[in-house]
Amino acid sequence: MAAYDYETHDYDVVVVGAGGAGLRATLGMAEQGLRTACVTKVFPTRSHTVAAQGGIAASLSNMGPDHWQWHMYDTVKGSDWLGDTDAMEYLAREAPKAVYELEHYGVPFSRTEEGKIYQRPFGGHTTEFGEGPPVQRTCAAADRTGHAILHTLYGQSLKQKAEFYIEYFAIDLLMSDDGQCQGVLCWKLDDGTMHVFNAKMVVLATGGYGRAYFSATSAHTCTGDGGGMTARAGLPLQDMEFVQFHPTGIYGSGCLITEGARGEGGYLTNSEGERFMERYAPTYKDLASRDVVSRCMTLEIREGRGVGKDGDHIHLNLSHLPPETLAERLPGISESARIFAGVDVTKEPIPVLPTVHYNMGGIPTNYWGEVLAPTKDNDDRVAPGLMAVGEAGCASVHGANRLGSNSLIDLVVFGRAAAIRAAEVVDPKSAVPQAPKASIEAAFSRFDGLRHAAGHTPTAALRLEMQKTMQEDAAVFRTDKTLAAGVEKMDDVAGKLGDLQVTDTSLIWNSDLMETLELTNLMPNALATIRAAEARKESRGAHAHEDYPDRDDENWRKHSLVWFEGNRASLGYRGVHLKPLTSHNDGGIDPKKIAPKARVY
Ligand SMILES: Cc1cc2nc3c(=O)[nH]c(=O)nc-3n(C[C@H](O)[C@H](O)[C@H](O)COP(=O)(O)OP(=O)(O)OC[C@H]3O[C@@H](n4cnc5c(N)ncnc54)[C@H](O)[C@@H]3O)c2cc1C
Repeated sequence: MAAYDYETHDYDVVVVGAGGAGLRATLGMAEQGLRTACVTKVFPTRSHTVAAQGGIAASLSNMGPDHWQWHMYDTVKGSDWLGDTDAMEYLAREAPKAVYELEHYGVPFSRTEEGKIYQRPFGGHTTEFGEGPPVQRTCAAADRTGHAILHTLYGQSLKQKAEFYIEYFAIDLLMSDDGQCQGVLCWKLDDGTMHVFNAKMVVLATGGYGRAYFSATSAHTCTGDGGGMTARAGLPLQDMEFVQFHPTGIYGSGCLITEGARGEGGYLTNSEGERFMERYAPTYKDLASRDVVSRCMTLEIREGRGVGKDGDHIHLNLSHLPPETLAERLPGISESARIFAGVDVTKEPIPVLPTVHYNMGGIPTNYWGEVLAPTKDNDDRVAPGLMAVGEAGCASVHGANRLGSNSLIDLVVFGRAAAIRAAEVVDPKSAVPQAPKASIEAAFSRFDGLRHAAGHTPTAALRLEMQKTMQEDAAVFRTDKTLAAGVEKMDDVAGKLGDLQVTDTSLIWNSDLMETLELTNLMPNALATIRAAEARKESRGAHAHEDYPDRDDENWRKHSLVWFEGNRASLGYRGVHLKPLTSHNDGGIDPKKIAPKARVY
């Protein structure tokens, strides 16, 4: 192995990732007086959060009655009763506070006539514990909410003197022998220098792994790096079988059309011009939850009622909406439709198709963002020195299916919670522990092996093989047969990691090597997804298993865990937290309200 020189940096906290979750955590940590570094492989405001359009859920009651308990109920039901109840309560309760904080930090929300934050309806968000009409709960800055949040949080983090390391790629966690995280090894992409960050706490905020699939709404940078690093550190990934397909990716490009389009009154039609969602979800129609709408669209196409010359997609209609509404509330998607589908939304429908959009699964944490390292006798054991927030984490508030606009709120609520917790467990006066030499050497050795990989399989070819396999065999609908075939194919694909060929060995702007590192991160995420999906013999949320069409609470109301040794995956399970944080007598939700029942919209 080539010898690598490196620079050393000592911090109280190192946050990896500068999306909404990473920035909210960074800002909170810095505000609490912790010396905080934020390491990011792309410029902060280019993180995928910038693309979030529709909005952020919080029961502000600005546009009609709402209550945090209704939000909690909708989240529990949306999760198909797989989310952890304490975390879901924390999310719904803290959401209004977190949104008002954003407002005060300067997020330019759209406004009502009276000057309050504008809120729109979104799928699965209701009133009266699902008994009442849809609620307007999703706070929006036109259709550029993520953009507004990200820019505001970055500015605020700079104001608090958080230190940014931009275009630094985190390679691996540095772990002590007894399983404590003590830092992270990074590669500075523009000059090839290497950096060891020692820290009392490392926070993974690296986003999702949508790019494990062929067609995804997420950015090319969404490669599950945090999950990859966690798996290599010997810690498990949780609930990875639950992958959300968004109903309205633009046909062909996969570019997203926000659910806000249906929130503002848009609807789907099949080749007969029928508004088919009325048949499947008579109450909430086009605003049923995403997994439900995606399945109905897939069924329409399968039964020969798709649109287009191959009958392989669906129409989203907006042209009946007043042009002023489109211009004011949905300017971004009007532009996307024109660029990516050649469609004028004031006149024609947009061709759409369910497209991979969000990963419910991730690195298991408690509702403080602390990473869990479950053992046989303790499901909730905390892995010291490590936190995970945002899409990379799994708190778990989304369970088997996430409601639209519940991710942005997850980022800020749990980014903030991680900072509150860190202020309790990190002592700013203590010395920063130095990561063990052996862990640094092991990380360099893996890096060097990939840099000089001289096999026969180019990274791009293997990535494509993985993406196609996942797209085909871990899809909207799954069967024993497709999943078994998928597991076999994915084992084969993962085996070829040993035969990778990297042609560029330089250390400066080496995209070949960076994409290879990313592929080694995507792979455990993809393997965990298909393995956990194959094992789960029921249908729940986004996991629609045709051989087991019903939810089976008795046997399967539990979180899946997948550990890795190299490419070898082993499975385990962890109990779902059933108890709310606050008892009913103290103003908490009535447990009867959230008892499992059939999930209809
Ligand atoms: C098109 C689109 C629209 C969406 N719209 C909405 C919406 O309206 N409402 C809603 O609630 N949700 C929405 N979502 C979901 C939501 O936006 C995402 O789940 C969320 O933004 C993820 O944020 P994050 O902070 O976890 O990660 P990201 O924003 O993806 O950021 C990840 C960060 O990690 C860094 N990083 C990753 N790997 C490394 C590494 N190895 N080294 C260093 N840095 C690294 C990156 O540089 C980046 O800064 C949308 C998603 C998409 C794709």
